[in-house]
Amino acid sequence: MSTVPGRSQAISHRSPEGEGAPVSNAPQVHISEVGPRDGLQSVQGVMSTADKCRWIDALAAAGLREIEVGSFVPAKLLPQMADVVDVVRHALTLPGLCVMVLVPNRRGAQAALAAGVHKLTLPVSASEAHSLANVRKTREQMVEELRSVVALRNAEAPGVPVEVGLSTAFGCTLQGAVDEDDVIRLALACADAGVDEVGLSDTTGMAHPAQVRRLFTRLRAELGDHAGAAHLHNTRGLGLANCLAAFDVGVRSFDSSLGGLGGCPYAPGASGNVVTEDLVFMFEAMGVSTGVDLQKLIAAREPLKAGLPGEPVYGMTPEAGLPKGWRT
Ligand code: ZN
Repeated sequence: MSTVPGRSQAISHRSPEGEGAPVSNAPQVHISEVGPRDGLQSVQGVMSTADKCRWIDALAAAGLREIEVGSFVPAKLLPQMADVVDVVRHALTLPGLCVMVLVPNRRGAQAALAAGVHKLTLPVSASEAHSLANVRKTREQMVEELRSVVALRNAEAPGVPVEVGLSTAFGCTLQGAVDEDDVIRLALACADAGVDEVGLSDTTGMAHPAQVRRLFTRLRAELGDHAGAAHLHNTRGLGLANCLAAFDVGVRSFDSSLGGLGGCPYAPGASGNVVTEDLVFMFEAMGVSTGVDLQKLIAAREPLKAGLPGEPVYGMTPEAGLPKGWRT
């Protein structure tokens, strides 16, 4: 059981559904904001450290309880993440926030744990071609790397959950279709390596709702409590439909990005995570609590725009405005 705020807590405190269920203030879905990592690594510009911190402050103020604030990768590969230690240091001062970072390997994990992060996420590609392009390792080599990261975590920071997002789980720009049996086998191998949660990522925006329903149903059946978040992109306009499909088969953790910022530098043509504002609107309108104040969330677009002038910022809900009488 995790001792840090965030995903596991939101899940374990979720009240059972149905009549007569005890009323709980814990959100019914857990939204993990990935913009400061997935978003910023995909744009041309570099946001200053001060602007990143202002943006993260605004996201936390809106009620987001988990933010992926950056990645521990060499600055020469991703100059946007060169200041990740400073960003983590700032994020750790925000009360109740689970500070998560992406690490590609043991070396990154070592630096992240030394910086005091609450949670690690590692990308493991379901597609061999994407794996080689993204981390220059085969899938099997990545599973070995996972074992090494888990051993390090167990030795140095046993309270820090390690999660995996299986990227290109729904299709790969380089390879094309990705076999669903392969995805499930790899998810089981990751769980076997000792990670706490394995989620599925539509890195390339190729997923559709029937596929999302099928794959998450299998993932949850095979992995039980270790089945993780839905990380879905809006590249072809199906982001929200796919989130709803995942929700319908029991998924309660979702990654999304403010303003739909994001993509993948090694998945050509892929852009745009699910827009956090639209995702929160959808769930709250359905009566599914997110813990996020939509008005404050929309206000968090200002520091994003100020820090990345000229970068397109997406979202239908912010464009349309909140319906009359809207209350979270
Ligand atoms: Zn993504």
